[in-house]
Amino acid sequence: MKDANYPSIKEQLTERKGLLHDAVKVSPDNQNLNKLLSDVDAALNEMAEGTYGICTVCNDPIETESLLADPLMTVCLSHLSDQQQQALEDDLEYAGKIQRAMLPEKEIKTDEWEFAHHYHPAGIVSGDFCDLIPANDGSHIFILGDVSGKGVSASIMMSNLHALIHSLQSFNLPINEILQKANRLFCESTLSTNYATIVVGKVVPDGTVEICVAGHNPPLIVKDGKVTPIGATGIPVGLFCSAEYDVERFKLNKNDFLFLYTDGLSEASVNETEYGTDRIIEYLAEVNGLSAKEIITDVLLKQQSFLGNTKLEDDITVAAIRKI
Ligand SMILES: [Zn+2]
Repeated sequence: MKDANYPSIKEQLTERKGLLHDAVKVSPDNQNLNKLLSDVDAALNEMAEGTYGICTVCNDPIETESLLADPLMTVCLSHLSDQQQQALEDDLEYAGKIQRAMLPEKEIKTDEWEFAHHYHPAGIVSGDFCDLIPANDGSHIFILGDVSGKGVSASIMMSNLHALIHSLQSFNLPINEILQKANRLFCESTLSTNYATIVVGKVVPDGTVEICVAGHNPPLIVKDGKVTPIGATGIPVGLFCSAEYDVERFKLNKNDFLFLYTDGLSEASVNETEYGTDRIIEYLAEVNGLSAKEIITDVLLKQQSFLGNTKLEDDITVAAIRKI
């Protein structure tokens, strides 16, 4: 395994070896601890010899994601026994359940706003997330994002980031500070292999919307058939601790809405032709008097009819926030 993750795995294993040593001193006869210690030694020896990360069955390099998740892997995923495969699938099921438990209701209505979302993971787990959090002053904080990578590592990262933002918003901070603090904490707590594009915004009962776009697909403002994309107001989260975010402010009147989506909507393709943002914009410009829920349903139907029988390969999350 000759890539940028090698030193971080080596550092991790060396540190864990020390911890295992301490544990073995206390329980010298513990077989599990002794086995782990000898596996760690073997992995460190292989690193020294340049043979680390090579599958002992087929001699191909083991997937990097597998090694990051479990630095003691000695075979490719495809050679695992049925029981081991099942254990991995069970982990995924749990991760998927944790994610679904963190989603808001599919449709939420207040006196001033309608919120609707659709969340569809391509596999059991997803790097996508969205949330809607009522604040004390009658406003609502909304979040929609996409963590890079796939599988359990992306999904756990997504759950962490989601929980971070959820907790931070309870301090009544301006939304750009919520994002800045979440970014710092995320940067300080992760292996630098993951990052996330994300939108954090706030809607106030009088129709005012504030929004920060951290490298995410532009959210779309729709007013009387006119669609205006909101460009990024900062870089994705998880790249640099010192990233700062600007806030975009605007007002929505009755029937105006905001449309948010992850790239699973725009980048799905048939015969190498992408669905694309233009088709989304074209449809939204024609929307007239539909509820947030109906907008979401129609957008997905339009994409589905474009895709035909082609299977979705990426997670897809869309949300609409409509002033009523
Ligand atoms: Zn193999």
